[in-house]
Amino acid sequence: MGHRRRLDHIAIAVRNLESSLSRWTALLGIEPSEVEIHSIESEGVRVAMLPLADGVMVELMEPLSDQSPVARFLERRGEGIHHFALRSKDPAKDLARAREIGLEAVGDGPVETTVGDLVAFLHPRSLNGVLLEFKQRREERSHGGGT
Ligand code: ZN
Repeated sequence: MGHRRRLDHIAIAVRNLESSLSRWTALLGIEPSEVEIHSIESEGVRVAMLPLADGVMVELMEPLSDQSPVARFLERRGEGIHHFALRSKDPAKDLARAREIGLEAVGDGPVETTVGDLVAFLHPRSLNGVLLEFKQRREERSHGGGT
């Protein structure tokens, strides 16, 4: 009874958010006013969310410091796709199901972001080198996705 999963966003690690942003907005035909930019101190990144069709986003991530995991990613692998995210109605449940089939989570469980989304990650070493995020958007959390 598998319903098909929806893509939430693809995240790209960049060295300079501003210079990357102008390229991506021009490419996608997006006005600067449509781009949401915010810092996520807990993850050490500043991000820009660029809307595509159907609510899907391209997320550009710039490290806030050398200590940021994204800074280490850039050092090791250079700019490029950092992770992708699937929409989730219940990240804790998705994480539990992933663990049941032998996949490894990053951290203990879902965490709330500074903007109120609930997110959980699967470790790339158990998933073909891909960092995968389950994301429940803040506007979909009112109907009881527990924290
Ligand atoms: Zn993400």
